[in-house]
Amino acid sequence: MSKKEVEETSEEAPKEEAKPEKPEKAPKPEKKKKKEKGVFSLYKMENDKAVRLRPTCERCGPGYFMADHGNRYTCGHCGFTRYKPAEK
Ligand SMILES: [Zn+2]
Repeated sequence: MSKKEVEETSEEAPKEEAKPEKPEKAPKPEKKKKKEKGVFSLYKMENDKAVRLRPTCERCGPGYFMADHGNRYTCGHCGFTRYKPAEK
Protein backbone atom coordinates (compact mmCIF):
# COMPACT_ATOMS: atom_id res chain seq x y z
CA MET A 1 0.00 0.00 0.00
CA SER A 2 1.58 3.17 -1.07
CA LYS A 3 0.23 6.48 -0.25
CA LYS A 4 -0.33 8.70 -3.13
CA GLU A 5 -0.54 12.28 -2.40
CA VAL A 6 -2.45 13.93 -5.03
CA GLU A 7 -1.76 17.52 -5.22
CA GLU A 8 -4.68 19.24 -6.54
CA THR A 9 -3.74 22.11 -8.66
CA SER A 10 -7.14 23.24 -9.42
CA GLU A 11 -6.60 26.44 -7.55
CA GLU A 12 -5.96 28.85 -10.28
CA ALA A 13 -4.78 32.27 -9.62
CA PRO A 14 -7.74 34.54 -9.66
CA LYS A 15 -7.88 36.06 -13.02
CA GLU A 16 -7.49 39.76 -12.96
CA GLU A 17 -10.46 41.23 -14.56
CA ALA A 18 -9.22 43.04 -17.51
CA LYS A 19 -10.28 46.57 -17.17
CA PRO A 20 -12.04 47.84 -20.18
CA GLU A 21 -9.69 50.07 -21.99
CA LYS A 22 -10.73 53.59 -21.63
CA PRO A 23 -10.94 55.34 -24.87
CA GLU A 24 -8.09 57.72 -25.09
CA LYS A 25 -9.12 61.23 -24.64
CA ALA A 26 -9.30 63.03 -27.84
CA PRO A 27 -6.35 65.32 -28.19
CA LYS A 28 -7.16 68.81 -27.24
CA PRO A 29 -7.62 71.10 -30.12
CA GLU A 30 -4.49 72.99 -30.73
CA LYS A 31 -4.52 76.32 -29.13
CA LYS A 32 -3.91 79.32 -31.16
CA LYS A 33 -0.28 79.95 -31.32
CA LYS A 34 0.65 82.61 -28.91
CA LYS A 35 3.37 85.00 -29.47
CA GLU A 36 6.52 83.62 -28.06
CA LYS A 37 7.27 85.11 -24.76
CA GLY A 38 10.34 85.15 -22.69
CA VAL A 39 13.19 87.30 -21.65
CA PHE A 40 14.67 86.92 -25.05
CA SER A 41 11.68 88.73 -26.44
CA LEU A 42 12.62 91.79 -24.47
CA TYR A 43 15.65 92.44 -26.52
CA LYS A 44 16.43 92.35 -30.14
CA MET A 45 19.92 92.31 -31.48
CA GLU A 46 20.49 94.96 -34.04
CA ASN A 47 23.95 95.63 -35.31
CA ASP A 48 25.44 94.06 -32.20
CA LYS A 49 23.34 96.31 -30.07
CA ALA A 50 20.59 95.16 -27.79
CA VAL A 51 17.46 97.02 -28.56
CA ARG A 52 14.79 96.96 -25.94
CA LEU A 53 11.44 96.03 -27.30
CA ARG A 54 9.51 96.92 -24.20
CA PRO A 55 9.31 100.17 -22.41
CA THR A 56 10.67 100.32 -18.95
CA CYS A 57 8.74 101.47 -15.97
CA GLU A 58 8.84 105.16 -15.36
CA ARG A 59 8.52 104.68 -11.66
CA CYS A 60 10.88 101.80 -11.14
CA GLY A 61 13.40 102.97 -13.62
CA PRO A 62 15.37 101.12 -16.22
CA GLY A 63 15.57 97.42 -15.65
CA TYR A 64 11.91 97.03 -14.94
CA PHE A 65 10.18 96.10 -18.10
CA MET A 66 6.54 96.62 -18.55
CA ALA A 67 4.33 93.83 -19.72
CA ASP A 68 2.61 94.18 -23.00
CA HIS A 69 -1.10 93.90 -22.50
CA GLY A 70 -2.21 94.79 -25.93
CA ASN A 71 -3.40 98.30 -25.55
CA ARG A 72 -1.40 99.10 -22.50
CA TYR A 73 1.78 98.34 -20.68
CA THR A 74 1.81 97.32 -17.08
CA CYS A 75 4.65 97.19 -14.65
CA GLY A 76 4.60 94.00 -12.69
CA HIS A 77 6.73 95.59 -10.02
CA CYS A 78 4.70 98.57 -8.96
CA GLY A 79 1.54 98.05 -10.94
CA PHE A 80 2.01 101.17 -12.98
CA THR A 81 -0.03 101.06 -16.12
CA ARG A 82 0.60 103.13 -19.14
CA TYR A 83 -1.68 103.12 -22.06
CA LYS A 84 -0.17 102.86 -25.43
CA PRO A 85 -0.51 105.82 -27.63
CA ALA A 86 -3.38 105.23 -29.91
CA GLU A 87 -2.27 104.36 -33.38
CA LYS A 88 -3.95 104.11 -36.72
ZN1 LIG B 1 7.12 99.86 -11.88
